[in-house]
Amino acid sequence: MRRTILTGDRPTGPLHLGHYAGSLATRVALQHSHDTYLLIADLQALTDHADRPEEIRHNVLEVALDYLAVGIDPKASAIVIQSGVPELAELTGYLLNLVTVARLERNPTVKEEIRQKGFGGEIPAGFLVYPVSQAADITAFRAHLVPVGADQVPMIEQTVELVRRFNRIYGSILVEPEAVVPRVARLPGTDGRAKMSKSLGNAIYLSDLPDVVTEKVMRMYTDPRHARVEDPGQVEGNVVFTYLDAFDEDRPALEALKERYRAGGLGDVALKHHLIDVLHRLLAPIRARRQDFARDPEHVMRILAEGTRRGRAVAGETLARARRAMHLDYEPVPWPPEAA
Ligand code: ATP
Ligand code: MG
Repeated sequence: MRRTILTGDRPTGPLHLGHYAGSLATRVALQHSHDTYLLIADLQALTDHADRPEEIRHNVLEVALDYLAVGIDPKASAIVIQSGVPELAELTGYLLNLVTVARLERNPTVKEEIRQKGFGGEIPAGFLVYPVSQAADITAFRAHLVPVGADQVPMIEQTVELVRRFNRIYGSILVEPEAVVPRVARLPGTDGRAKMSKSLGNAIYLSDLPDVVTEKVMRMYTDPRHARVEDPGQVEGNVVFTYLDAFDEDRPALEALKERYRAGGLGDVALKHHLIDVLHRLLAPIRARRQDFARDPEHVMRILAEGTRRGRAVAGETLARARRAMHLDYEPVPWPPEAA
């Protein structure tokens, strides 16, 4: 049986190396062996950007360009705009009855994001419940696998709880998903903070020009005790090495580099130049493909319309089953009314 993948991104800005390491690379690798749906989560983006709708709209295209640039094949992967599938909002409504406010407040990722975003006492209700909307996204597509970074693992756990609860009450309708988390599951920021993130301003974007990448790497944080080339350096927790772990495909050479750094005799500048080379090799073809697709935004929007149509067909089917199970399967009222 072919299995289904659902994952996605908030259109709050262009995608960065953290997205690539955390999720995009897995999607590209699995898209031909799985039924893949990629959600551009514009409704979820509005939960903390309610006053910036034009920005979200603009970034839908940016995220789509990044998908196509990294090798997402729109024939294999349906790229779906979340707001184009109203069934997702409907299922969110049903699932909200199956979770307590206390449970939502315990979600560690949401807690961390609330702190980081500085909401203070003014947390938008939509933001607090976004894990439920994410559970609706995953289950509406009947996804088995969800490729995500480490920050999203609590969301998948919460989704599994909701699925069990729903199925216990209404019968076995929803599929229990599983997270697919990569080896480097949380890429730190260039400033050494735990997570590279659009909102923290510590990201290397997939679309950054070579000079910008070079400059960001040269400013990266390394081991503060490694002042002179001869000093032994610390590999663990060294952000430059974490990036190499994620992106340098020559594993034996990387292990040798780590040994030299630990022993002393490898300077930070030489090490950073190596990372710059690795990133240039990774990003050059991505940048070129992005520029190609960016020449024809209407073509990209047609890809999104087609993906959204395919996505809606699947979600509509799940919702029909859910409504039946919940005794909500009335004859639909014709719409628009004159069609009656
Ligand atoms: P925002 O700040 O708007 O929340 P974000 O950078 O956190 O943006 P999302 O759109 O929330 O990005 O995340 C999309 C996907 O990318 C998720 O699967 C998430 O786990 C993954 N991801 C984001 N940042 C990283 C990172 N630094 N390391 C690994 N995975 C990441
Ligand atoms: Mg996020």
